[in-house]
Amino acid sequence: MESNLGQFGETYNTGILIATLIFFGVLLLRIYFVKKEIAQRSWIWKGNTPIFIWLLKGLWLLGMLCFLLDIPSWFLTLASFKSLIDPTIYLSFMLVLISIAFMEIILSFTVTQSVITQFIKRILFLLLSVFCAFSFGLAAFVFPGTFQFPAEAACTLLEMPVKGQWLAMQAGKFPWVNYHANVPMQLYALDMVKLGPHWKFFSYMGADTSDFYSFGDSVFAPASGIVFNSKDGLPTQMVYKGEDTVNVAGNFVEIEIQHAKYLFIAHLLNGSVAVKIGDTVAVGQYLGLAGNSGNTTFPHLHLHIQDKPILIDTAAKGQPFRFKNIERTRFDVFKQKGSPYLNRNDIFSASHE
Ligand SMILES: [Zn+2]
Repeated sequence: MESNLGQFGETYNTGILIATLIFFGVLLLRIYFVKKEIAQRSWIWKGNTPIFIWLLKGLWLLGMLCFLLDIPSWFLTLASFKSLIDPTIYLSFMLVLISIAFMEIILSFTVTQSVITQFIKRILFLLLSVFCAFSFGLAAFVFPGTFQFPAEAACTLLEMPVKGQWLAMQAGKFPWVNYHANVPMQLYALDMVKLGPHWKFFSYMGADTSDFYSFGDSVFAPASGIVFNSKDGLPTQMVYKGEDTVNVAGNFVEIEIQHAKYLFIAHLLNGSVAVKIGDTVAVGQYLGLAGNSGNTTFPHLHLHIQDKPILIDTAAKGQPFRFKNIERTRFDVFKQKGSPYLNRNDIFSASHE
């Protein structure tokens, strides 16, 4: 693991740049060989194309259509470090992959004589088609499937606990967009990180906790209730270096907001927790500062609601919630106001700001 997020981002971008060049090479090679064999390539509806080849070509077309869907979905939904990706590199990579997909879609309507006549080529094409259709098809199912969430009426509606613009880093119902969903008590849990200029969540290299815009940001009660539990005094962990696996929540506040609804706000700054057990809190009341205590890799705010009071109670179930009066930006362009649910990579802020 890199020692800071800035380095991680640079490595990540270099990786994508190398992948872009490799795939660009693949595209050029493919064009070269298609041009070379153009004389023996024909449309599948011309000549006597066996039904088997029609089926294979159909499978290949299906795989490539799914691949076309997968490319943006991966960057916009599944990639948890989207905010670290350089937009130029990311667009170049998408463009190269989309070009490959488009070319293959056109080629799926043509066939070479060698695929019809040579047994080995036919088997190779069969294996490749099945692999692509299966894997890309599966992925194409997974991405749209992440956009499901309990209806507004089934969710606890909360005030946004912070000010400014934030990114939902881990959010949604399914483990592939929200790692919390792997444990039942933290189903629907949200990890949010504050954004600065250009949607960056840290300045400089992100080597120091204080580089992060989230660090030291004021946190307010998202609902009224009674403080059921709280903790303070745990130290700030270094970025990517010291996860506390014993006190996973770090400094936290737990508020009983309704019967069988216990809201946790975690990873608060050492010495900042402003409420104690038994306190009645009003919605909007100052609770403390966001920090980097507990089991955390870099400063962010964790929030979830469970139906039982003990954090690690394996019988507890995570409860769905939404924020009221927010503006949510999804896929970097689609804006929605009101109480829309949050999925990974959604950006949100209070709508009156
Ligand atoms: Zn979390």
